[in-house]
Amino acid sequence: MKVIIDEDKCVGAGQCVLAADQVFDQREDDGIVVLLDALPPEEQHSAVEDAAARCPALAIEVLK
Ligand code: SF4
Repeated sequence: MKVIIDEDKCVGAGQCVLAADQVFDQREDDGIVVLLDALPPEEQHSAVEDAAARCPALAIEVLK
């Protein structure tokens, strides 16, 4: 699995961090997503899928 984020789409909603805090964080100043791990381990995959599904801005792309 490879995770790609589009910072320009991100609206800082934070749903991705709630779903997968090992993989996503948010910048302190504006809340824009920070990708912590573009190649997350297997045990994170379902959380990452959940994060992508929850993102209201469709800013998270998951490649398999
Ligand atoms: S859920 Fe989407 S819009 Fe919200 S912080 Fe994460 S990437 Fe950005």
